[in-house]
Amino acid sequence: MAGILSAPAGDLPLFQSYKLPNGIEYEQPLGLFINNEFVVGKEGNAFEVTSPSTGKVIGRVHEGAVPDVDLAVDAAYRAFHEGPWSKLAPNERGILMNKLADKFEENHLLLASIETYDNGKAIQLAKGDIAACISVLRYYAGWADKIHGKVIDTGRDTFAYTKQEPIGVVGQIIPWNFPLLMLAWKIGPALAAGNTIVLKSAEQTPLGALVVAKLIKEAGFPPGVINIISGYGRVAGDAISRHMKIKKVAFTGSTMVGRQIMKAAAESNLKKVTLELGGKSPNIVFDDVDVDKVVEWLNFGIYYNSGEVCTAGSRIYVQETIYDKLLEALRKRAAQNIVGDPFDENTFQGAQVSKVQYERILNYIEIGKKEGAKVEVGGEAHGTQGYFIKPTILSGVTSDMRVVQEEIFGPVAVIAKFKDIDEVIALGNGTSYGLAAAVHTKNLNTAIETANRLAAGTVWVNSYNQYHPALPFGGYGESGIGRELGKEALKNYTQIKTVNILLQ
Ligand code: ADP
Repeated sequence: MAGILSAPAGDLPLFQSYKLPNGIEYEQPLGLFINNEFVVGKEGNAFEVTSPSTGKVIGRVHEGAVPDVDLAVDAAYRAFHEGPWSKLAPNERGILMNKLADKFEENHLLLASIETYDNGKAIQLAKGDIAACISVLRYYAGWADKIHGKVIDTGRDTFAYTKQEPIGVVGQIIPWNFPLLMLAWKIGPALAAGNTIVLKSAEQTPLGALVVAKLIKEAGFPPGVINIISGYGRVAGDAISRHMKIKKVAFTGSTMVGRQIMKAAAESNLKKVTLELGGKSPNIVFDDVDVDKVVEWLNFGIYYNSGEVCTAGSRIYVQETIYDKLLEALRKRAAQNIVGDPFDENTFQGAQVSKVQYERILNYIEIGKKEGAKVEVGGEAHGTQGYFIKPTILSGVTSDMRVVQEEIFGPVAVIAKFKDIDEVIALGNGTSYGLAAAVHTKNLNTAIETANRLAAGTVWVNSYNQYHPALPFGGYGESGIGRELGKEALKNYTQIKTVNILLQ
């Protein structure tokens, strides 16, 4: 959080003209989005936004704190209980969600460019993020009028049925690695089910969510349905987690903060909690693969989004018979990734999101070296300005090393060899995490046995980082609680009411 300085907002306006490095000009909202209006923070503060690719401050946004969360919750509460949203038929909710998806389509390049500006990610990946936002919004728009209960036969004297009702005001706290995609993953199921929302963006990346706030209003959502707060985790995030009128909180971020949110929920009103947390995912290669093909997936698995992905394939395990050949191919492939200016269409790996994150990753590389790991490629910063790090591979690692156990959240993979399936399952399951895993093999039996025995919420076979709005996503172990995406996510945002009628 260091480097994001909170200070009196002074004469900071509610909107400002921005010109992005790729020449796009637009009006950036800077206020908090409460009850469909942009407003200044009640405490009168603002914080800085930094460009990860230059390290320079590019703007300031108004900061939300406890009183602003209160106002947002009040607006969401009114919208849920009294406003037009509470009277909308489910299919009308779906229509509004599709209108928002249309707005994302109309503003595709703008939104992608803002993500690149704010987060530092390569524009080619940011465009993919926005396409994925659109898919998720449309997927959940389709669910809006397909959520229903059951009639349950309890005998001739009674008539019993269940309803799947929305929860009410839900809090959503999102991270900085996919600022808009995480927003879409969160608001999609919550809106489809009929809830109203107070969402806090990550303090490192507030810009895109505020532009989306403008689009939400243009799409025709009634006031109070979606409120967006820019603010710090320990202040605004904590206020959401503890709020007595928020009946559910959904969080994506680090395992450490996930614990704090769960604790705050327990200490306040026992709000329902879903958590999508960290990972240290194994990417397993058996010796029957086509090395050139698999190297592409290993490379994409760890370096996609600059390694700032909770599912990053950060532990590569290779069957010993092809280890040397594969390591050589991967070293070459990693060194070929184009790292640099995220606005260059050819760039694959942009900047790390912040100085804190950049230093944390470089520190992990040093820890790895001290622990006895060998740097096969990379292992240092790239360039002299901004927060770029070379794609890195550490070999010679053992399971007790910190670089094997802890989430680095950057372009750093460890690589080790294994003899057989039993050994690699033990290695693969040997951390406290369980978010994702992958197995590469041409043998169907090996693929299925490995997938069955890995303790992970998602297992990819012969690919990596492949998401689909219809496929549930979430963690085993300390990687989280609950599932996002798919029909599963609707469970997070509904509660079952049983009506049991005694027939007279
Ligand atoms: P990272 O450590 O990778 O920056 P975090 O888990 O700290 O990720 O942040 C993810 C989100 O959680 C951000 O929106 C952040 O503001 C928020 N957050 C951080 N600390 C807290 C907290 N104590 N309570 C609620 N939200 C928090």
